[in-house]
Amino acid sequence: MDEIIEEIRDAERITAFTGAGMSVESGIAPFRGEDGLWNKFDPQEVASASAFVETPERSWKLFKLQIEECLESDPHKGHYSLVELEDHGLNSVITQNVDGLHQRAGNNEVLELHGSLKRLVCQSCRHSFMVEEFLDDIKEGHIPRCECDEILKPDVVLFGEGLPHDILQRAWKEAENCDLLFSLGTSAVVQPAASIPAAAKKSEAKIVEINLERTPLTHDVSDYFLKGKVGEKLPEIIDRL
Ligand SMILES: [Zn+2]
Repeated sequence: MDEIIEEIRDAERITAFTGAGMSVESGIAPFRGEDGLWNKFDPQEVASASAFVETPERSWKLFKLQIEECLESDPHKGHYSLVELEDHGLNSVITQNVDGLHQRAGNNEVLELHGSLKRLVCQSCRHSFMVEEFLDDIKEGHIPRCECDEILKPDVVLFGEGLPHDILQRAWKEAENCDLLFSLGTSAVVQPAASIPAAAKKSEAKIVEINLERTPLTHDVSDYFLKGKVGEKLPEIIDRL
């Protein structure tokens, strides 16, 4: 712990990379694992680009669940610790999560690699809307439609879709230019996002990993590994700065 505090004090540019574990601590169901959404939904049947085109009403059953869940959840202490870390050099948060909780906590620079449930986009005219505009419809089980009558899609990356190019570029840049990277609540198995900590390491950044269990990063990439919840470990660190 003392060494991590020193690393933060020495660092000029810090980046955080966050994954599903961060959201789970706010009560949001993960995709993978025992209680994961993919045990209830077949991702290829609901969350792929082709499934959305063929059976959007089926995809919207999943989206409705996700949107309601994320609106009912609040940021936890780990999210707020990342906001405090901005006073100590945190430059950006790169996230694989789509719940918008980092922004709600108050982080300034959040790079959403997999998009956000907070926005809905029209696949036809590319018009974009805030999800709140359609909340009543969604809660009643209606599928939101654009002014042009096309069915709207949450602005999230589905299977078969590429990650947003500009966001990914900016994320790589952040990873390559930081001198300390926190990897938080991510099993680091989903590519290409999982390569971000490795890219930071290659550019000689120190890596601090906080996760409930060891990951492929733990041995090969991480300089420090703290086993536990982000919402417990990260505030402990911040309190000592
Ligand atoms: Zn439209």
